[in-house]
Amino acid sequence: MTSELESLRIRFRTSTAARLAEMQALVEALTCDAGDRASLDALARHFHGLAGLGTTYGYPSISTLADEGEAIAVPLSRRGGMPEAALIERWRELIAAIGAELARVEGQRDDDPAENEPASTFRVLLVEDDREIAEYLLPILRGQGFICDHVATRADAFEALADRLPDALVCDLVLPDGTGYDVVEALREMPGGDGKGAIVISSHDAFGDRMRAIQVGADAFEGKPLDVEALVRRLRVFQERKEQTPERILAVEDDPVQAVIIRRILESAGYEIEICSDPARFDDVMTSFGPDLLLMDVRLPGGVSGFDLVRYVRQDERFGTLPIIFVTGEQEQDAIVRGIRSGGDDYLPKPVDPSRLLSSVASRLERARAMRSLTDRDPLTGLLTRSALHARARQISDGALLLIDVDHFKEVNDAYGHAAGDRVLATLGALLRRGLRQTDLAARVGGEEFVVVVEHASAEEGIALAGRLLGEFAAIDHGGFQVTFSAGVARMTGPIDAALAAADAAMYEAKRAGRNRVAPALW
Ligand code: GH3
Ligand code: MG
Ligand code: MG
Ligand code: MG
Repeated sequence: MTSELESLRIRFRTSTAARLAEMQALVEALTCDAGDRASLDALARHFHGLAGLGTTYGYPSISTLADEGEAIAVPLSRRGGMPEAALIERWRELIAAIGAELARVEGQRDDDPAENEPASTFRVLLVEDDREIAEYLLPILRGQGFICDHVATRADAFEALADRLPDALVCDLVLPDGTGYDVVEALREMPGGDGKGAIVISSHDAFGDRMRAIQVGADAFEGKPLDVEALVRRLRVFQERKEQTPERILAVEDDPVQAVIIRRILESAGYEIEICSDPARFDDVMTSFGPDLLLMDVRLPGGVSGFDLVRYVRQDERFGTLPIIFVTGEQEQDAIVRGIRSGGDDYLPKPVDPSRLLSSVASRLERARAMRSLTDRDPLTGLLTRSALHARARQISDGALLLIDVDHFKEVNDAYGHAAGDRVLATLGALLRRGLRQTDLAARVGGEEFVVVVEHASAEEGIALAGRLLGEFAAIDHGGFQVTFSAGVARMTGPIDAALAAADAAMYEAKRAGRNRVAPALW
């Protein structure tokens, strides 16, 4: 399965770039203080992880370089030695050389213009020969902030795919010169095409068509008349997947050999992994590491079993939907049953088979992600829901909060209809999403009320941002009419509730003063 490998490679390239930056910092730390044990240990782990890639993923040169780094670092780390200046210098060279190798590999795709786009853009290719449907869909998808191209035939679709891979394909089933299945198949066969989203749309909503769509590798099948909201939700899931940072996996494993194997397999696929070998430390590691998935050994030291730990985890509502996979030598049916009853999602026998481990991990993470984004996102605007905002704001302790309320929105609905009102809200949602950094938050907290939290921004910066957004929004032509909003801006230095209350009061001040303006909170 070469395309599966390709998506693993892409994952690896992204995670390695981040890893190299960290390794550089560790070398700097060792240059200042060669006795810095924590940095030495961490550096040894990084070299070890990179070396573990092997030639399997098509980067033998990187493996060779990392092997050398590992060979120097690991023994030193084990016996608690202090590296000499020349060794530290050699690590610096190796890291630079690995970086250069990575850049060379990346460079092979440098002619791809998509590489230069910010991560937040999401390209959709619509293949649809029915003009009426295309003309209906395109403005909706563009209004949602997706960049859309449209072609009407199988031949043009092939050409468009060869020209540039979209992030998602939305493809009609019956085309004048072939079928949508051909197009999905072509996408899947292209390098990197395996990780892209593919949706088949068709009025031939028979069971056989759905089956065939799945067989050729489509992610979803939508019957006509189209449920546009469902289609947009699907695209959002793909978008969320594209924006993901490396996922974190915690493996509870007391056998050091197994731990090394599991670490190597998962690290080479780009996951971030932490091993917990002592059940007594489990609680602390869960809290500090915050895993996206848990790999759980069954037989553990200290009179606790993996089943006990999983039951314990499931009592904590924070971890109610955390994917959990048991990895164990107990291959009896009984173990499987007990694993599932205690709250596990899957079961893998030891010794772990790399491809089975990777596919189980990938599919569990995928499902958890889809669940999260369906419940965390408001379908109309693609922004966070109110509860998701509150959950994520806990990680932000310093920033500016903007509370935005659309002006005279009732009149918009009354004059132009509810559907036009919805489009205005979707447009505002796309505007708020655009240009935000990964750590910033944008949410729809009420019918026509929105919140933006910008981390580490001052009050002045928050006010300037709100003013810029207001200017952009007020200038938009919604089809013969324009709309404004009023905003209150507050500093956020702790829990979000205080900032929300302050921004709310300021927003009402802005309404009272005549709307279409930004007011600072009195703090
Ligand atoms: P103000 O300038 O004082 O904020 O006036 P307003 O009309 O915007 O405020 P009000 O709170 O009186 O009315 C908000 C309206 O927003 C009422 C409701 O019909 C409309 N609304 C709420 N949610 C939605 C939605 O999802 N879609 C549409 N089209 N309208 C919505
Ligand atoms: Mg057709
Ligand atoms: Mg309101
Ligand atoms: Mg309003």
